[in-house]
Amino acid sequence: MIEVNAFKNDLLTWFHENQRQMPWRETKDPYYIWLSEVMLQQTQVNTVRPYYNAFIERFPTIQALSESQEDDVLKYWEGLGYYSRVRNFHEAVKEVHHNYNGAVPSQPDEFIKLKGVGPYTNAAVMSIVHNHPLPAVDGNVLRVWSRLNNNHSDIALQSTKKTFEEELQPFVESESGDFNQAMMELGATMCTPKKPLCLMCPVQSHCQAFENGTVDQLPVKKKKVKKKTIDYLVLYITNRNGDILVRQRDTKLLNGMWEFPMFESDTSIHTIEDELDAVIDMQTEPIFTTKHIFTHMTWNMKVIRAYTQKSDVEYPYRWMSKNEKEALSFSTSMSKIFNKINEV
Ligand code: SF4
Repeated sequence: MIEVNAFKNDLLTWFHENQRQMPWRETKDPYYIWLSEVMLQQTQVNTVRPYYNAFIERFPTIQALSESQEDDVLKYWEGLGYYSRVRNFHEAVKEVHHNYNGAVPSQPDEFIKLKGVGPYTNAAVMSIVHNHPLPAVDGNVLRVWSRLNNNHSDIALQSTKKTFEEELQPFVESESGDFNQAMMELGATMCTPKKPLCLMCPVQSHCQAFENGTVDQLPVKKKKVKKKTIDYLVLYITNRNGDILVRQRDTKLLNGMWEFPMFESDTSIHTIEDELDAVIDMQTEPIFTTKHIFTHMTWNMKVIRAYTQKSDVEYPYRWMSKNEKEALSFSTSMSKIFNKINEV
């Protein structure tokens, strides 16, 4: 555990002596600080600086901004990207002008109700302006805190963020504005994503990743696996005895399970007819569509009925009477299809 007073003392002493000059650090005006936090989301300090100066020169007050047209406001954001940020900010400032008499709410539970204000912006602005005891946890702080604690939890998870916020709470009971800014400054100038400057770091003596030699393994951030969606045609083919054509899978997924013949929906009808030696009337409306969600993919299945005169088929195909259904292993998605058609 990091000792609160000793850590804060080392961090804040360094911050007070070394913090970079920034125009928004020379004011306690909540409108300016709020603007700077909105601009700094996903954008580097050096890029923001000229935009911030031009913006406050053109829209120096809440009133000036709230009375301006969106097009005019957007021009002063051109090149910063993520335009929904400025649209939300503009809307929120108009609300402050009309509903709060032009004064930015000073309580976190009021401020967070404004458009575009999330937990991070709320904590940052409310701590910097009013010293409300809220930890401001963004990507920088997640990285720094996971290294300081040698914590290998995935920082992409909400649960990790929540744990870090709880751990940081005792550190923001006083001087929260300076503490939050100092953590951000440490992340931006020392504890950088690549090649952190550990040998010059003011809190190195508290850092468990440094002590354990694990700095370059942290933070752990797992990429979200993008789910694949595949569209299938599922053919529910019966013969003149009313038996149903099924086949056994020989694939990694659901290997050995039985299924109704299914094909990716862009497979040509001739290929399907050749394979099954059946006549498929593609004009037929699907009897229904259904979806099956695996952890890594989704099957969208269009179920079509078809008939054939053929009786002899070869493995992996076979005919199955309705009574045999329970004796064969079917995946949940296939059982759902069978039950729906047969109203089981
Ligand atoms: S010692 Fe290195 S890893 Fe630890 S907080 Fe400082 S810069 Fe980050």
